[in-house]
Amino acid sequence: MQYDIAIIGAGPGGYVAAIRAADLGAKVVIVEKGEPGGVCLNRGCIPTKALIASAHSLESAKVAARFGVVCPVGEFLIDFKKVVSRKDEIVALLRNGIEKLFKTHGIEFIRGAASFAGEKKIIVDGAHIDAKNILIATGSSWIDLPNLKTDGIFIVTSDEALSWTELPKNLLIVGGGVIGCEFACMMRQFGVDVTVVEATDSILPPVERAISRILARSMKAAGIGLIVSTTVESAGSSADTVKIKLSSGEKRSFERVIVAVGRRAFTHGLNCEASGIKLTEKGFIAVDSRFKTSVEGVYAIGDVIGNPMLAHVASAEGIAAVEDIFGKPSSYDALSCPAPIFTSPEIGSVGLTSEQLKQNGIEFKTGRVPYASNGKAHCDGETEGQVIVHSGMDGRILGAHIIGQSATLLIAEAALAMKNNIPALGLVSTVHAHPTLSEVLADAAKISAGS
Ligand code: NAD
Repeated sequence: MQYDIAIIGAGPGGYVAAIRAADLGAKVVIVEKGEPGGVCLNRGCIPTKALIASAHSLESAKVAARFGVVCPVGEFLIDFKKVVSRKDEIVALLRNGIEKLFKTHGIEFIRGAASFAGEKKIIVDGAHIDAKNILIATGSSWIDLPNLKTDGIFIVTSDEALSWTELPKNLLIVGGGVIGCEFACMMRQFGVDVTVVEATDSILPPVERAISRILARSMKAAGIGLIVSTTVESAGSSADTVKIKLSSGEKRSFERVIVAVGRRAFTHGLNCEASGIKLTEKGFIAVDSRFKTSVEGVYAIGDVIGNPMLAHVASAEGIAAVEDIFGKPSSYDALSCPAPIFTSPEIGSVGLTSEQLKQNGIEFKTGRVPYASNGKAHCDGETEGQVIVHSGMDGRILGAHIIGQSATLLIAEAALAMKNNIPALGLVSTVHAHPTLSEVLADAAKISAGS
């Protein structure tokens, strides 16, 4: 049988593209060597957010007395086995949902590893798949440090950490990026003694500095050790302890170490050379603005083409690519894709940071409003936070950056405005319900618009 499109990888990029292609009337086959849902569903976004929800529940229970809710006997404790089984149930449920979606959309799902055997020829377990177009959505995998090799037990990636059934007493996280900070906040809420070592001079280096500074302060206040401008020089594990030597010369011991220093394109086993698909210097698949690779009829989307490595970006790119292939105009806009970070407090960002605006010589005005100015924040006992909106001199929103309760939700309004060219004053003239946190975004937009 000839397919209109063969998709390699059933993560959030591949499976969403498959469904969109099927909706557009295409005959679709999707090949996946692991479980449908990719890293996001099986070892990333979903399992971490399920664990974070448990950590938040514990945190809420601990502070309940402040709200007049008391626990007269004993204290709230964590049953980590239950936490893990809840997470596994959620993942299994959603995984099952994807397979059902393939069936209801008439998408053929093949379990196996696809590889190129010619320019536009792919094989799975020796069998040729005949497709007019090929979409590569194979995602990303871990970057391993030569002096900090993961062993799956003591020194691990977040993949293995997500399968822990017991919590360590103390933990070193190497890399203060998105994964490192999300894990640090969650593990601290579970009661683990956490230290983060970050190579640059700030955690979350690409995030608006004022926002990452607030997070750093909050993490320190929660008891997380933050060591910046430092790397791990050497590590050795013995008898349930990992001995670490930092680049500062300091020696420390930890029960477990999580390495989270970024991800690289996953092209292993794909045999791109057989096709002639060009890679970038950093090993990502090189594509043009319409996700076309150097080989006619072969496309690539998601983590495998590089940053930003976000599930919803992969999905949006997948939709844009198949719409382009099957002749439907796409309205994808990379700049207005929001980025959520599920730290405590959480972060939501869209558009450019003040650092990027300055670097590019773009003039802008900033509105900055603290959560503490908002009635609902006080009612919820969540006054730590800030909304920052940058607007251009023409009033267009150039970037919005939020730290605080529900930041990952609130950022959607700023993304909607940016995507649809609604100026800052458009946010201001939209009535925001009182009392809600959304009022803080409108207040910051007002200041940034100079009104
Ligand atoms: P990252 O790029 O976000 O962070 C890696 C960090 O490690 C950086 O701060 C970097 O400076 C630091 N680092 C690099 N080498 C180091 C070394 N030798 N010693 C100490 N620090 C070092 O990467 P990540 O946290 O591994 O996440 C991978 C990808 O997954 C990212 O692109 C991220 O956006 C994505 N992700 C997104 C979410 C979300 O949207 N909520 C959640 C998790 C992961």
